[in-house]
Amino acid sequence: MKRLSILIILLAFLCIGCGNDNSAKKDSPAQTPTGTPAPTETPTETPTPTETPTPTETPTPTPTEAVMQNWDTSNVDISWIDPNKKLVAFTFDDGPTQYYDELLDILEENGMHATFFVWGKQYNKSYEAVVKRVVEQGCELGNHTWSHPHLKTLDEAKIAEEVEKVRALLEDLTGIKSFLVRPPYGEADMKVQFAIPVPLINWSVDSADWNNGTYESVYQRVMSNLKDGDIVLMHASYKYTMEAVKTMIPELIADGYQIVSVSELAAVRGKTLQPGHAPYTSIR
Ligand SMILES: [Zn+2]
Repeated sequence: MKRLSILIILLAFLCIGCGNDNSAKKDSPAQTPTGTPAPTETPTETPTPTETPTPTETPTPTPTEAVMQNWDTSNVDISWIDPNKKLVAFTFDDGPTQYYDELLDILEENGMHATFFVWGKQYNKSYEAVVKRVVEQGCELGNHTWSHPHLKTLDEAKIAEEVEKVRALLEDLTGIKSFLVRPPYGEADMKVQFAIPVPLINWSVDSADWNNGTYESVYQRVMSNLKDGDIVLMHASYKYTMEAVKTMIPELIADGYQIVSVSELAAVRGKTLQPGHAPYTSIR
C-alpha cells in the first residue's frame, strides 16, 4: 500500500510537470527576439550591370542606292593639254551612229578629243567596236538616257532607271563605271538633278544642227560664237555636222584652241563638277 501511494504521488508530479510545460508554451507571448535585432537584410549587392551589348555593325547602304559623288577627274590624262591655250569641249549627242567612225577619224588626225553622249536605244551590237574605240582613242563616253524622254515628266525612279540602263550598257562595253549625263533636250529641274547621281552637262554654244541645219549653218553658229571654256552641242546624226567638224577643227587649232572632252576641260580648269547641280553649260 505504501509503495502504491508513492508511485501515485510520483506519477502526479510528473503529470503536473507535463501540464505546466504545455500551458507555458501555449500562453507565453511570442518570444521577443533577444539581442540585436536581426538586421534587415542588407540589400544584396546591386547587380553589376551586364555589359551593354556591343552594337552590331552599322548596316551598309544597299548597293542599289546610288551615291552622289563629286565628279572624279583624277584619272583623266591631261598631260597632252596646254592649260595656257584656249579650250573648247565638243559634244556629240544621239549616237552611236554611222558617223561615229568618221568623227573619230577627224579627231584622231588632229590629235583632239570630244565627248560622245550615248542614246541607249540607238545602240546595237554593230556599234560595239566603235563605242569601244571612243574610249581607246582617249575620247569620252557620256550618258544620254535610254529612251530620250522628257525627264521632267517622269518620276524619280523612272529617271534613275533611264540613266542606269545606259550606264550599265557602257560599263559592259568599256569597264568604266560612271559617265556624265546629258539630259535629253537639255531639260532638268531639281527633281531630275537629284534623281541622277552624276553631274549633268548642257552647252553654251548650240550648233542647231538639229533644227534644219546645213554645213554652213553649223559652221557659222559654232565659229562665230565660240570662246574659251565653251561646251558645244552637236549631234552625231548628220553628215553635214560631221563635214562641218572636219573643217572647224583645223581652223580652231590654228586659232590657238585645243578641242577636248568635258572631263578634260573640267580637269584642266580645276573645276569640280557636282551631282545635284543645275546642268553645267561651260567650264571656265
Ligand atoms: Zn538628244
